[in-house]
Amino acid sequence: MRHITNPPNPYNKLSSEFVGEPPPTKLEVFEETATKKLITKAFASGWEGGWRYTVNCYRGCVHGCTYCFARQYHEYLGYGAGTDFETKIVVKPNAPQLLRAELKKCRDKMPHLDFSFATDPYIALEAEYKLTRQCLEVCSEFRVPVSIVTKSPLVTRDIDVLQRLEKVSVFFSIPFLTKERSNPFEPYTPVPDARFRAMKTVADAGIKVGIGVAPIIPGYNESDIPGLLERAKECGAERAFMSMLHIDTPSIEEYFVAKMRERLPETRVAKIINSMKRERGGTLRHRSYKERMTGKTEQWDVTQRLFDFHVRRLGFNIKEFGSDHLTVEESTAPETQPQQLTLF
Ligand code: SF4
Repeated sequence: MRHITNPPNPYNKLSSEFVGEPPPTKLEVFEETATKKLITKAFASGWEGGWRYTVNCYRGCVHGCTYCFARQYHEYLGYGAGTDFETKIVVKPNAPQLLRAELKKCRDKMPHLDFSFATDPYIALEAEYKLTRQCLEVCSEFRVPVSIVTKSPLVTRDIDVLQRLEKVSVFFSIPFLTKERSNPFEPYTPVPDARFRAMKTVADAGIKVGIGVAPIIPGYNESDIPGLLERAKECGAERAFMSMLHIDTPSIEEYFVAKMRERLPETRVAKIINSMKRERGGTLRHRSYKERMTGKTEQWDVTQRLFDFHVRRLGFNIKEFGSDHLTVEESTAPETQPQQLTLF
């Protein structure tokens, strides 16, 4: 059983603590009928034009990855970044109508749309609400290139819509090879095997797929990199990117460390914390946006080289892809060489 655990919300003047055992969590679904805007323009260094445009039909994510940077967005709503993020889910029922209205006005200025970044577009509620599906239908109508990042096999339900899109890519976020290794950090996500099976189904349907080996948690999952890339290749992936764990706020740090302590032996926790601090110059959080995605040490260079080696060996990142905006970094390598991608 899960109990309510939320770090104090820095945007609330007051916070309270439970005296004794906190109550169990329960799933609560809120329908936000007053949503005015669906497409979010967000700065992304290294992204095409420096900006990306994202669509999220939900707020909060039942997958509950302890490292999730989107936890901070729940605090803007007055909720907590801990279990509130995983159990208080806000649904935007008018998302498809809003998207259509916005695209009517700005289709010409919209290079592509990314589904994800504040939530997984295929959380279980999507099976009932079908909002991501309807938004993809709108994108097909307006011929907008789309990229999806998910951890859920539910995306396979929408293969028929994905096939109608002019340009589309589906990235599966799979940073751990086994359920046992994933579980301490991704307690409620579909297991890695299920994500790989879904990747193969989507690839077999002729849709471009990729793998996001993200986040790399220093001292924990570097050794999974070769195996993850090999399995992704077997399942039809053509693109791969990697990024380092970034903990964006004190609330996320508090929750991330507390959950590690609940689920991993103390020696393992100490190894991760010490490795992370070395990469971040003494703290768990990066000091600047520039440092957010990478580490500082030789160990991180070794990790990067390990990833690059297997990307080259397996032939990732060579062919033209469904939604080309993901090829973003300048590379000194010849054009036929694979290029490292960044997504977060
Ligand atoms: S699936 Fe994605 S959005 Fe959901 S909790 Fe995990 S990292 Fe966050």
